[in-house]
Amino acid sequence: MPDRAIGRISLAEARALWEDEDVFSLGKKAHAARMALHPEAVVTYIVDRNINYTNVCACGCRFCAFFRPPGHAEGYVLSREQLAAKVAETVALGGYQILLQGGMHPDLRLDFYTGMLAFLRDRFPEVAVHGFSPPEIVFLARMEGLSIAEVLAELKASGLASLPGGGAEILSDPIRGSVSPNKCPADEWIAVMAEAHKQGLRSTATMVIGLGETIEHRLEHLSRIRDLQDATGGFTAFIPWTFQPGNTALAVPEASSWEYLRTLALARLFLDNVPNIQASWVTQGPMIGQTALYFGANDFGSTMIEENVVAAAGVRFRMEEDELCRLAVKAGFEPVRRNMDYSRREGS
Ligand code: SF4
Repeated sequence: MPDRAIGRISLAEARALWEDEDVFSLGKKAHAARMALHPEAVVTYIVDRNINYTNVCACGCRFCAFFRPPGHAEGYVLSREQLAAKVAETVALGGYQILLQGGMHPDLRLDFYTGMLAFLRDRFPEVAVHGFSPPEIVFLARMEGLSIAEVLAELKASGLASLPGGGAEILSDPIRGSVSPNKCPADEWIAVMAEAHKQGLRSTATMVIGLGETIEHRLEHLSRIRDLQDATGGFTAFIPWTFQPGNTALAVPEASSWEYLRTLALARLFLDNVPNIQASWVTQGPMIGQTALYFGANDFGSTMIEENVVAAAGVRFRMEEDELCRLAVKAGFEPVRRNMDYSRREGS
């Protein structure tokens, strides 16, 4: 991929694009940028499974339909046997990565996490663990009285391969404070990613739209990602998706597909230093997911053999690998399996 194949736009230019361009002209510009960065007509994807080791969470975000508070009858922590069964099933379906995330469980100490990682590494050395978003790392560090660097070093030594960009929502504290007042502030989210990148752990970055934010909040979010990427180069991809209000305590309408596509396109144009942008077919469905491939996205994310968080909000789009590939082909792209770092998966 050519380095910086697209030029940098300022915040003022991004604002002007948002205000002046309609969805189609913004999409056309974003697609041109995508093709400049990835001239080959390829759409990448990964075969993996989201595994939530616990749904118990003391954070209580207003937009979350997945968690159960500590002591709730529906709270669970996966046993080693349950975890192993899920990973074995993933491998049997051709998977080679798991996305491992939970909640902020007040009784699970650092040795639970290091033990879980070491167990997975021993039992499934061929499966990469992409796990623990920044709020989980901050929670663990506080609970153990350790620094973020110390927690990340312990997790990495036990087998953690990379970090998902979850828990970013909108990296603007007024919005974070209104929807998830107990979650780490934007500075700490950035600090975890900076430290992870420093320790050689690559990560993704996400953004959730439709939480009551304005375009200024979204631009603040994009600026923080771009600034950190200038410093570390550790982000492999950016993944915007829409808040799913079903079963949550946040009574706002879902952002439209039009809003999603415009934001996706703006992100592609603004994040000149982030190589890959993912289409969110999990929240948007296969058709808008396919359309996103012409609005700046060059990646279909994951086949998501299992997904619980968005499903808890009542949104259950599922796609088998062959269906995902069929959509890419129908849109004019060759589907290619990739690893977390976006290298081509051997034998695909
Ligand atoms: S979004 Fe994450 S941190 Fe917030 S309540 Fe849900 S599980 Fe907990």
